[in-house]
Amino acid sequence: MLGCAGSFPGPDSACSCYLVDADGFRMLVDFGAGAMTAVQRFAGLYSIDAIVLSHLHPDHMFDACNYVVARRYAPDGPLPTIPMYAPAGAEARLSMAYSGNPDDKLDDVYEFNVLSAGTTEIGPFTVLAERVNHPVETYGLRIEYGGRALAYSSDSAPCDALIRLAMGADAFLCEASYLDDMDNPPDLHLTGREAGEHANKAGVGRLLLTHLVSAWGSEFMTADAAATMYGGPIDIVRPGTRYII
Ligand SMILES: [Zn+2]
Repeated sequence: MLGCAGSFPGPDSACSCYLVDADGFRMLVDFGAGAMTAVQRFAGLYSIDAIVLSHLHPDHMFDACNYVVARRYAPDGPLPTIPMYAPAGAEARLSMAYSGNPDDKLDDVYEFNVLSAGTTEIGPFTVLAERVNHPVETYGLRIEYGGRALAYSSDSAPCDALIRLAMGADAFLCEASYLDDMDNPPDLHLTGREAGEHANKAGVGRLLLTHLVSAWGSEFMTADAAATMYGGPIDIVRPGTRYII
């Protein structure tokens, strides 16, 4: 867990960023604002083999702009291109954020691959992507390796795709942005109770809650609400924590 703050960086965490490691291959899932700090602290600036962006909201992709500098202008010369899997339009979007010109190419840094619904092999991982319930093109993921499965909600309001992606997964890294019993806007995010409900329906081995908005929420209330719907182990993830799936 490199970054797990929801929507904007928190006092103790960058925005969404997770390192999934198997067989010596290190795949970064999301690269939100502030995450480069955690990448350097817990992984290593150049230790990443591939990057997957679940969607193009700043709290899930912004440090992919900052990372351009680190690779392009490294003192010993530019680093080789790194594969990036992201929804269509990612290069123009990152270029706009990086230089203000959508025609500026970042293909000396990233080898862009369009992430869409379906299965992609990334290093040793089989990655299944499916659209989830969020206002922009957003993919929840199911990452499989060696008979184990990690599901990741990305950002999503309740939807059946999350249950399909998480079905029987060993761990379900699931967002829980909102508090229950509040007047939350529709089709954006989950509450703790909804995260627990999806985890229960999918029969996952453990529920890892992420993307809490610390300034507005309550970890205790979120975990408590999730536990009313899901009886398995529940953690609220922290930067620097490693889980063996
Ligand atoms: Zn989002």
